[in-house]
Amino acid sequence: MKNLLHEKLTEYYGEMIDIRRHLHQYPEISFEEVETPAYISSYHKQLGHEVRENVGRRGVVAKLKGSKPGPTVALRADFDALPIQDAKDVPYKSKVPGAMHACGHDGHTALLLVLAKALNEMKEQLHGDVVFIHQFAEELAPGGAKPMIEDGCLDGVDVIYGTHLWATTPLGKIEYNEGPLMAAADRFQITVQGKGGHGAQPHYTKDAIVIGSQIVQSIQNIVSRRVDPMEPAVISFGSFKSLNAFNVIADKAELEGTVRTFSEDIQQQIQNDMKEVVQGVAASFGAKATFEYFPGYPAVINHEKEAKFLHKVAENSLGIEEVEHTRPQMGGEDFSYYLRTVKGAFFFTGAQNPEWDIAYPHHHPNFDIDERAMLKGATILGNIVLSTFEGN
Ligand code: MN
Repeated sequence: MKNLLHEKLTEYYGEMIDIRRHLHQYPEISFEEVETPAYISSYHKQLGHEVRENVGRRGVVAKLKGSKPGPTVALRADFDALPIQDAKDVPYKSKVPGAMHACGHDGHTALLLVLAKALNEMKEQLHGDVVFIHQFAEELAPGGAKPMIEDGCLDGVDVIYGTHLWATTPLGKIEYNEGPLMAAADRFQITVQGKGGHGAQPHYTKDAIVIGSQIVQSIQNIVSRRVDPMEPAVISFGSFKSLNAFNVIADKAELEGTVRTFSEDIQQQIQNDMKEVVQGVAASFGAKATFEYFPGYPAVINHEKEAKFLHKVAENSLGIEEVEHTRPQMGGEDFSYYLRTVKGAFFFTGAQNPEWDIAYPHHHPNFDIDERAMLKGATILGNIVLSTFEGN
């Protein structure tokens, strides 16, 4: 059965590329997807699948019923793009100014659609059902996964799997982990309210830039001095705003950044520590500061049994040269919500062309994937379905 599936996927590989390049030329950014879900929906309808549109607002969920009873396996692909100007010089370059598939979600969609077509042709032999979850807005919290789950996309689902094509991992390589794979990704905002004044008379002011700088420095000591060294954590400032004339002391400073963690206890501890530091430093200058914390996606934690199963299936899949039990990384993904609801696992499919001089990272204006990775990702996801149905 796995050989038959691989034959079909190989036969339709050209179509996979066509779909991916079509989507690549017409990207739609998070929460603004209209044509993309319509395209996905019509593809599944042509296959005769049961289709639900506008799931959680913009998602599409399609169901393929096998001819025999068995478990229900869900496969998820996200389909949103990013507000980035495509800088590549390729025939399939984005035709939408300021929007680009710079994370490979076009590839996720193409591989899942063609896999749906291949599995559909094998439905007489399928002992179970397959639910195809096409998710909107992965790139922007609060994301599309949560509302789609609330709208029932996992109803009746026993297990879920998903992959992310990864442009800085070599083609043919798979990376996964049993347990934590990707971090919780949170945002924070700090506003320092000082007292502005003349640059020549600091003694009459409470300099918001100096206070803000002190806050940045003191917060950098939280991970190094307060967090258990065996627990991974990152605090990064991405923005420090206080725009004044050169001879003016700042009244106000606004700082913003991100916190990445795996453990909910550490996440809570950092939040408390940051608040204490912000208020303490501001008070030491006789100034005031506010601290706001916005939790983003929780950490992606693979279920152990399903991750091991994934490893075994991937190892025995055609075209896969290496399956690596990888270290978790600090990026975020809202696949976490699915894994909090049902069992399953998420993995990275290497999409770096061995001949490239530079593999541009995700979200870079020159980002691209080696399209052959789609065939590999589809093969593994398809084999996971077939292996799950085995023995039913
Ligand atoms: Mn992504």
